[in-house]
Amino acid sequence: MPNLHDQRTVCPADTLTGQLTKGNGTVAPIQKILVIDDEIDVGEFVSAAADAMGFECIATTDAKAFLDVLAPDTDLILLDLMMPEMDGVELLRLLSQQKCKAGIVLMSGVGKRTMETAGQLAEVLGLSIVAHLQKPFRLAELEAVLERHAKPRALPLVKHTPIAVFQHEELVRAIERNEFVVYYQPQIDIATGRVVGVEALVRWQHPERGLVFPDNFIARMEELGLIDDLGWIVAERGMSEVAQFANGDSIAPMLSLNASVYSLHNLKFPDLLVSLAEKHAISPSNIMVEITETGLIKELSTALDILTRLRMKQVKLSIDDFGTGYAMMQQLKNIPATELKIDKSFVQDMQNNGQDRIMIQKTIEMGHELGMHVIAEGVETKEQLDLLRLDGCDSVQGYHFSRPLPAKDLVSWLHTYRSHLVH
Ligand code: C2E
Ligand code: CA
Ligand code: CA
Repeated sequence: MPNLHDQRTVCPADTLTGQLTKGNGTVAPIQKILVIDDEIDVGEFVSAAADAMGFECIATTDAKAFLDVLAPDTDLILLDLMMPEMDGVELLRLLSQQKCKAGIVLMSGVGKRTMETAGQLAEVLGLSIVAHLQKPFRLAELEAVLERHAKPRALPLVKHTPIAVFQHEELVRAIERNEFVVYYQPQIDIATGRVVGVEALVRWQHPERGLVFPDNFIARMEELGLIDDLGWIVAERGMSEVAQFANGDSIAPMLSLNASVYSLHNLKFPDLLVSLAEKHAISPSNIMVEITETGLIKELSTALDILTRLRMKQVKLSIDDFGTGYAMMQQLKNIPATELKIDKSFVQDMQNNGQDRIMIQKTIEMGHELGMHVIAEGVETKEQLDLLRLDGCDSVQGYHFSRPLPAKDLVSWLHTYRSHLVH
């Protein structure tokens, strides 16, 4: 049981003005920890522990008041799952609607299973559950959770450390001066060895820094509202160059384009994309739009509208980085995707890591059951390719075949590759 009569000063459990007068009479800044629990004692207990550790904390028993004091800089929320007036699950939905970024600790006396299910739901809602506290919990358990999670949380992982934070003017200038270039990476059908697609990957030919990779500027362009412009530059360039990759007698490979989640807010996106394809005499069924799981979850209803219309126009859809986002299993059947793209993080070590291999096998199985094409990215070795073939994967992309290349280099690569294929 929590020691509910801990001697340390406590924050009054129903002090909800957003500011808190502490014992010494000074006004504390906005709190960083919020506690909601219908048991006043629990709120007091948590507040006391948090206070003693030097954190700002407010506890409440009332859901409405809780939402009122919730601030964008709240670091951590301790939330009771079982409350009489509004249950914790309902509250999780409201937090999701408010796009809450705080870490959430679920507290409950209900079984571990129920907590885990609620945790999964929260993740589907885009919330970040950082810990569970099974009631009754001891002070030491609580302190460990606070110590671990009540610090300002690290920024989300980025694939490469950005080399600079580019300014708006610099990026606009780069667009105007046409400094973005498109590289292409071939996608190979495992059964036939033929190149069936190419993924367009943007780079910035920076006048001073040289070739800058997309992880250094995509997020920034999204933030500055420039990503749509960039998306159209890449789409236009890709559509004008893809014909070069055709194999003499056959049609050009499929062109895969990465769509930012922000493009999925634009209801005109399907029409614009299809008119662009028409302008370049490309059948929409030869265009694949790659979207990420995370992007989809964020704006599911608008995204579904756009994705459905893209499919009605025959554009193909791929779920990129599959396996790395939020639990998509339930949603997957509602999304009209035609392809699942297994993320490279599963492929990297699949020959040694049994769990990664199982994840890959299950994804392939599930994709096929849903009538989807399954591709694996980040294939770097023959061993990985052989295992993927064994597991029934349809196609692959990765350094084992080719790095992303500028159009003219890909043309040469294709020439050599195809000449080996026929012999
Ligand atoms: P992504 O869509 O997951 O693209 C795959 C990334 O993996 C590419 O990095 C590619 O160069 C890299 N890659 C390919 N084969 C291998 C391999 O065998 N091993 C390893 N370790 N890596 C491999 P890149 O080109 O740096 O792109 C990074 C991300 O930037 C892309 O990830 C995509 O999310 C984003 N991006 C690229 N181009 C565009 C674009 O035109 N629009 C938008 N919105 N995002 C883009
Ligand atoms: Ca991609
Ligand atoms: Ca990917």
